Amino acid sequence: MDDEFGRVIGRVIGRVVRLVETRRRGLARPSRRVRLDGMSREFVSDRALGVDASGIRKVFDLAAKLKDPINLSIGLPDFDVPPIGKEAAHRAIDAGHNRYTPTQGIAPLRERLRLDLSREMGRDVGGVLITSGVSGGLQLFMQSVINPGDEVVYLDPYFVMYKHLLTLCDGVARPVDSYPNFNFPIERVESAITSKTKVLILNSPGNPTGSMLSESDLRAAVALCRRHDLLLLSDEIYEPFRYAGLGGMYSPLLEYEKTVVLRGFSKSHAMTGWRVGYAFGYGPIVEQMTKLQQYTFVCAPSPFQYAALAALDESMQAYVEAYRRKRDIVLEMLGDRFEIARPEGAFYAFPKVPTGETASAFCQRAIDRNVLVIPGNVFSARDTHFRISYATTDEKLRAGCQVLRDLAGG
Ligand code: PMP
Repeated sequence: MDDEFGRVIGRVIGRVVRLVETRRRGLARPSRRVRLDGMSREFVSDRALGVDASGIRKVFDLAAKLKDPINLSIGLPDFDVPPIGKEAAHRAIDAGHNRYTPTQGIAPLRERLRLDLSREMGRDVGGVLITSGVSGGLQLFMQSVINPGDEVVYLDPYFVMYKHLLTLCDGVARPVDSYPNFNFPIERVESAITSKTKVLILNSPGNPTGSMLSESDLRAAVALCRRHDLLLLSDEIYEPFRYAGLGGMYSPLLEYEKTVVLRGFSKSHAMTGWRVGYAFGYGPIVEQMTKLQQYTFVCAPSPFQYAALAALDESMQAYVEAYRRKRDIVLEMLGDRFEIARPEGAFYAFPKVPTGETASAFCQRAIDRNVLVIPGNVFSARDTHFRISYATTDEKLRAGCQVLRDLAGG
């Protein structure tokens, strides 16, 4: 009898705890079969509902409806994979490299990267994990590090994925306004740090601004991480696209051991569809990321790991030069009508709308004139700037900039 009573009490307590938890998380019961906004949400998790469809996707959907638009919205190179990479991919497929690879990636690619990166960083960087693009690395990092309620600080404007991946982990995003110059506003960043802050994310050269953090910015960020014992995530996907040359301090890993660096081949070698990136740096976290890869991505695509290895022998410097020139076209054509923080890398510029209207309204007017650019509110709490991707032909870039000039008036 006592046993039965205990079981009943146990069940009642269990129910109450679940109910309180459900209410705490703001879920109305029953959550399985609600219909809101005319959209069926049956069976969909709160996690998925917490993620908004990317604003960039919305622009892409619009683009699909336009006839031959001048598309300055795309975040990928306008050149193709270098021939050496394509040939290596074909060869790998023909040679039967079509199966799972080890979780960490193929040994020759990992060894080559470890060698190159250790030379670059001036010390052994340890094991390199090959990921499914930098997006794969970001996902593994968040899953490996973030507990519910953990806070992550990054600069606003930011790469959109950070926010959404944090939502998926029940983490808390703490974006810090970095307008107007998009450098590292140390005091603002420091005041965003609380006892729950676990990670600082840096992205330099940055998407969507094309700005680069200076050496002193990076040193300030490193000092801050030391002071507050934070993990630093350095998203260096645009690292090869640095216009001021490849010297100097540009990666916080050079100075701070508790840094995880993410890089990849999507932008540097135009392999966005081949999904090859890599993670290295702070060993205990890279180890966890490797474990989680086993149960998520399993491995990066096998033939394209071989292609990435071959592509490392190709210099992409000519493309970097081409983008530097395109950057100059943007500054030359828009500099007198728009406030633009001078892009020092990647292939983006982030001008301020000069007309007093929101960036969304301005971009809509641009779209009405067949030019696609992305409003800043996709990447930011502000809706005052817009992103131009200048990874396109000179001719289209000039035509697009002319329309933007016209829209700015004057
Ligand atoms: N980080 C940044 C800053 C990016 O701009 C992108 C791609 N737009 C990614 C990560 C993801 O790159 P990947 O294609 O390698 O997943």
